[in-house]
Amino acid sequence: MQWKIDEGCMGCGVCTFECPDGIEMDKGAAKIKDDTSACLVRAAQICPKQIIHQ
Ligand code: SF4
Repeated sequence: MQWKIDEGCMGCGVCTFECPDGIEMDKGAAKIKDDTSACLVRAAQICPKQIIHQ
């Protein structure tokens, strides 16, 4: 299953602190960097907008 980040990212960067291997910031919005990164689960849990999902 592929990880996705929906529209509505507010650019807070919390997910990249939690999962720097899996997510990067691109022009003020989060973007999946490595779809296989295990820490994406945790990033999805802590995103205040709840827009990171499989
Ligand atoms: S935690 Fe959520 S709202 Fe914040 S940068 Fe990541 S995807 Fe965007």
